[in-house]
Amino acid sequence: MKSENLGINTICTHIGEVEDKQFKGAISPLFMSSSYAYEDVEVKRYPRYFNTPNQEALCKKIAKLEKCEAALIFGSGMAAVSTTMLAFLHKGDHVVLPQTLYGGTYNFVVEEFHKFGIEYSFAEGFSETDFSEKIQPNTKVIFIETPSNPLMRITDLEIISKLAKQHGVITMIDNTFASPVNQTPADFGIDIMIHSATKYMGGHSDICAGAVAASEEHIKIIWNLAKNLGGSLSDYTVWLLERSMKTMVLRVKAQNKNAKKMAKWLEKHAMVEKVYYPGLKNHPDNALAKKQMTGYTGMLSFEINNSLNVEEFLKALKLIKPSMSLAGVESTILSPAKTSHGLLSPEARKEQGIEDGLLRFSVGIEEVEDLIADLEEAFQKVSKMEKI
Ligand code: PLP
Repeated sequence: MKSENLGINTICTHIGEVEDKQFKGAISPLFMSSSYAYEDVEVKRYPRYFNTPNQEALCKKIAKLEKCEAALIFGSGMAAVSTTMLAFLHKGDHVVLPQTLYGGTYNFVVEEFHKFGIEYSFAEGFSETDFSEKIQPNTKVIFIETPSNPLMRITDLEIISKLAKQHGVITMIDNTFASPVNQTPADFGIDIMIHSATKYMGGHSDICAGAVAASEEHIKIIWNLAKNLGGSLSDYTVWLLERSMKTMVLRVKAQNKNAKKMAKWLEKHAMVEKVYYPGLKNHPDNALAKKQMTGYTGMLSFEINNSLNVEEFLKALKLIKPSMSLAGVESTILSPAKTSHGLLSPEARKEQGIEDGLLRFSVGIEEVEDLIADLEEAFQKVSKMEKI
């Protein structure tokens, strides 16, 4: 059987397993050694060199899923983001990023880049012009995130990739929200795929990890810095992540399906003002999402009527957990105005379309009827409170 023809579920289940040569067990054995022989060996292994048996094996799975030659696994999504950016950006270089950027990445750029003499510009929107007008002679990288957080706007992967190639610039994408199940940016010419594996790859809200997939040549450049910065992942967590990824496709497809049903239900609800989900026909980027994604993810946002008290609404939920992270098998919800965008002024939030009643909903794998009942009860409870 040719490994290049394997289906995505087979890749998740079988690629990147460590063979149990000793006992012939069905799953990967875990090698926790932090010390390996240096004599009479082909490779000098060490956890911080990103080359222990479990690390190397899992990288094969991630590379294959992202249709790339190689990958690296990190101790967090931010370790992956920061190491990758710093590997390609040097003093005097410039990077273009979207204004609507994951908060941790935004903070990294704004708080750290000046120390390295790296320049940056934020594209104000998601179009080709928004990005092209920010390109300078010293631009080395275009970094994108699609779908965006929390309004789920879509950036055209093909257009960004063409634009970057015209200018001899490297493209990086934070592919966390989509996961490789719903989007493989390499198909559209994007160079480097980055993940917070804490999210859909891990999928059970119990792992903090990051991943990067790219060509051998690009991974080598990232590795050269990674081994010096030291953001590797412990082998126990590597092993856990490999186990989690075996069911990634099943989980993510169930989440896609649930999110679409929830978006349609919310859209019709009298107490909901707006629903942001790229799978809805009235989403501004529905056609583009259809072109470059195979599923619309388990993430959506909705705005509740401003007569309702957001905190009371969140407290009234019994199944859906108000929680900071996302993409676990359990549904979670958060208020961007109180969390990710809490430090912005109310005016700046409004400008970005973040109303106080906006809620980001990470839809899990529960029965959709139970999620609907949970939300409906909360709506009923809070609407009565407001009338008193
Ligand atoms: N990228 C995105 C889109 C995220 O949502 C997050 C975390 O929420 C990160 C990167 C950072 O990942 P980590 O928390 O694993 O460092």
